[in-house]
Amino acid sequence: MTTDAPTTVSRKQIWFLTGSQGLYGPEVLDQVRDQSRSISDALAAAPDLRADIIAKPVLTDADGIRRAMIDASSDDRVIGVVAWMHTFSPAKMWIGGLGALTKPLLHLHTQVNRDLPWATIDMDFMNLNQAAHGDREFGFVQTRMRVPRKTIVGHTCDPAVLARIAAWSGVAAAYDDLRHLRLARFGDNMRGVAVTEGDKVEAQIRFGVSVDAFGVNDLVARVDAVEDAAVDDLVTRYTDLYAVVPELRPGGARHESLRYAARIEAGLRGFLEDGGYGAFTTNFEDLGGLRQLPGLAVQRLMADGYGFGGEGDWKTSVMVRTLKTMGAGRPGGTSFMEDYTYHLEPGRELILGAHMLEVCPSIATGRPRVEIHPLGIGGREDPVRLVFDAAPGDGVTLGICDLGERFRFVANECRVVPALAEMPRLPVARAVWAPVPDFTTSTECWLTAGGPHHTVLSTQLTSEDLLDLADLTGTELALIGAGTTTRAFARELRWSAAYHHLAAGV
Ligand code: MN
Repeated sequence: MTTDAPTTVSRKQIWFLTGSQGLYGPEVLDQVRDQSRSISDALAAAPDLRADIIAKPVLTDADGIRRAMIDASSDDRVIGVVAWMHTFSPAKMWIGGLGALTKPLLHLHTQVNRDLPWATIDMDFMNLNQAAHGDREFGFVQTRMRVPRKTIVGHTCDPAVLARIAAWSGVAAAYDDLRHLRLARFGDNMRGVAVTEGDKVEAQIRFGVSVDAFGVNDLVARVDAVEDAAVDDLVTRYTDLYAVVPELRPGGARHESLRYAARIEAGLRGFLEDGGYGAFTTNFEDLGGLRQLPGLAVQRLMADGYGFGGEGDWKTSVMVRTLKTMGAGRPGGTSFMEDYTYHLEPGRELILGAHMLEVCPSIATGRPRVEIHPLGIGGREDPVRLVFDAAPGDGVTLGICDLGERFRFVANECRVVPALAEMPRLPVARAVWAPVPDFTTSTECWLTAGGPHHTVLSTQLTSEDLLDLADLTGTELALIGAGTTTRAFARELRWSAAYHHLAAGV
């Protein structure tokens, strides 16, 4: 199953800026304009691009550049800017503009012609096609100014280049969403737990997300007020979409439990929609008048793009939302996850991930089943939940922790695999994966980095996507993947700590 794009993300714009200078004269600049259009047309035709490409007039002076950057920064539709120096654009012209830009920047290093015209090349051609040194001048000034940016090199006829640009557009869309994200917490964090805590003021400064707390009975009031007709509609939808066990079906002995689960979904969804919330948390220790721990409702809301974290884990909820937005439309799925228990057969070690209930069906293989089972935690009625296995595929896990003076992302490349055998007595949705490069290295590194037990598991994203997100938000990413060794990783953490301490300033 694939995840629908989060409903609050509408069609946005990415501006395409071409750099040149007046020295070339009007004839050459006309050619630059036409060639700029051919590149922007190629970008606009890229599959899976998450915004419309808006081609801007060729920039030839400092005032025009500064104005374009201010306009891009102030326009809420703009999620990012692509810059390409077609010719030589003396970079002092760009200093004012780059200083004013507040949107994600992609430096595309390309040229119009794929091949050199060996037989006909002359100095006119050389002077018209100068990105090879024009973009080096631009790269220098970006580095000199410490401008965070993504750099992509290659010809636009290469599908791999267009795919990387499309992936970056997803990160830019998620960053835009994150800057405006609102998260609702029902209750506080699970008592005694350290890693789910964090600095909400710093999170708003760093990421933009605002985190609001509610008494869980505010939600209960909404749930209790849901009309029976809304419950009927959801029950019909459940029986259409999922394999509902007979005892929960209309006429079944426990159908009332399914109806109450539907009531939670309708109430929770309405609460989040009315408040403009794109992410939320629950805590099984604080359920107020709720008769079931929300399971099915949380799973279905995640499938619609909402972020979720269990036990009040608002940081992970933010990341679930953000990674879902980054990967929207791509094959695979993205879910809240928890490293639960291991298969430690030498050479074939695996991690079994799950949660009490709340795993997103976007990662499911096959048709999820709706089941009801006792839950020995929370002290409420038996909760209804979707049960399924995760679809195999390459992916990543990402966790976030608060180190006190800053946030750290910890991520691991992984391969989701089929379970080695059926698990008929395990009544929750689950994923089985092999971490990269191997279980021992990965897990020793994860523990050394202080990575959390709650994560986001995504088979829609790659480590490059996560690195782009880390760069955009100025957050450390401790990445465990192919080629990682425990010794080099521990050294990297020490150097990285020094870097981030210095980069934060006094
Ligand atoms: Mn948990």
